[in-house]
Amino acid sequence: MSLATRSCSVFARQALLPEGWRRNVRLEMTDGVFSQIRPDALMQPGDHCADITLPAMPSLHSHAFQRAMAGLTETRQDAADSFWTWREQMYALALRITPETMRAIAAQLYVEMLKAGFTQVAEFHYLHRAEDGTAYHHPAEMAQSVIAGACDAGIGITMLPTLYRHAGFDRPLAPEQRRFESTPEFIASIMSDLDATYRKNDRISVGVGLHSLRAVNREDMIEMLSLAPADVPVHIHIAEQQREVSDCVKALGRRPVAWLLDEVAVDQRWCLVHATHLEVREVRRLAVSGGVAGLCPVTEANLGDGLFPLQEFISAGGSFGIGTDSNVLPSANEELRLLEYGQRLMRQKRCCGLPDGEKGSVGRFLYDAALQGGARACQQGAAGLAVGQRADLCTIDDCALSLPDLEGDAILDSLVFARPAFPVRDVLCAGDWVIRDGHHRHEDAISAAFRSAMRDLRS
Ligand SMILES: [Zn+2]
Repeated sequence: MSLATRSCSVFARQALLPEGWRRNVRLEMTDGVFSQIRPDALMQPGDHCADITLPAMPSLHSHAFQRAMAGLTETRQDAADSFWTWREQMYALALRITPETMRAIAAQLYVEMLKAGFTQVAEFHYLHRAEDGTAYHHPAEMAQSVIAGACDAGIGITMLPTLYRHAGFDRPLAPEQRRFESTPEFIASIMSDLDATYRKNDRISVGVGLHSLRAVNREDMIEMLSLAPADVPVHIHIAEQQREVSDCVKALGRRPVAWLLDEVAVDQRWCLVHATHLEVREVRRLAVSGGVAGLCPVTEANLGDGLFPLQEFISAGGSFGIGTDSNVLPSANEELRLLEYGQRLMRQKRCCGLPDGEKGSVGRFLYDAALQGGARACQQGAAGLAVGQRADLCTIDDCALSLPDLEGDAILDSLVFARPAFPVRDVLCAGDWVIRDGHHRHEDAISAAFRSAMRDLRS
């Protein structure tokens, strides 16, 4: 990619900067990074003009391959259908995906995510082995296929090779989980391979995933943490389902989040994905730990997981971000809307997504908070439109909002609550215009490859 495509300037009538909304903002990008940002500026020849410019959102939790089953699991097969029966269908899909189909699915998903206002995705990746359960010649083969899909789309990716060792608390993996089998050394080798290959790529970083407390025991967790570099993000599924909580209490004598906070030093590197089922003390302890709660409201609703205690958590100073998880509907505004509406339905109140005692725009608070938490979980440093940050943004036309002449936080309330999809016009990722006028330059080829891969998968 030439530097010329990664250096440009944008003039925005309104832009959301870290200090708040500003008018007539001129943003200069050099070599993929914001080099100058000036409010109250004059438009210059060659500027890319926008009515509204926003920082783009990270998705802090994704399983790209599950995009291949979006909409296919909504038929009731049993009165007791649940997360656990959905998981059987997901395993059947996972057994059929090749490195080639993985790349095609990921590229399609990531184009959709860019169009939905995301420019970074944390990929919680545990599909490590070949269909028959043997290791690929290069253990990083499947992770590299996902990354290749990200490169095809031009999205930033935080790849999290994920340790997955047991089917349940110290139960061996089942045959249908054979592609996930991994040891701490195996995951560490994938991490170092990826790091060596992509270290100089400003869109690709590497962290580590621990599948869950049921799939990773204490010894393996400690060993994995000792083998991973000390500064990389650590993500874990936790307390998603009530049954998982009761199994954990039975096996380990404590609830999952309490156990994790007792046994390891959870800090700002950590992302606790879902953390749906928390007691009051766990809420407070997680909030002050610095760990990010990785909330995935669309998937959590789709799977019947439950509702996260958002208001208690943010009132205790907790950080959260949003993830598209199963990718049944990749949409930044849908995640935030459903997060808020779940709280309203549970509490029979309005405007729940603010800390206790605070007033203001719910759309603004949720967007800002998810931006900060997502950036931390993806190890992007400070979030937002700031000098020195990677040049990511999205632009929106006034006419795409629900009402004319909206200003400031009313724009975010319109986007979150009154638009069916995020009405993105252009998206910049690392200084590269990956979406222009709502289109991706390779979307026809990527869509054709995806449809072909899906036909292969379902034949
Ligand atoms: Zn997940």
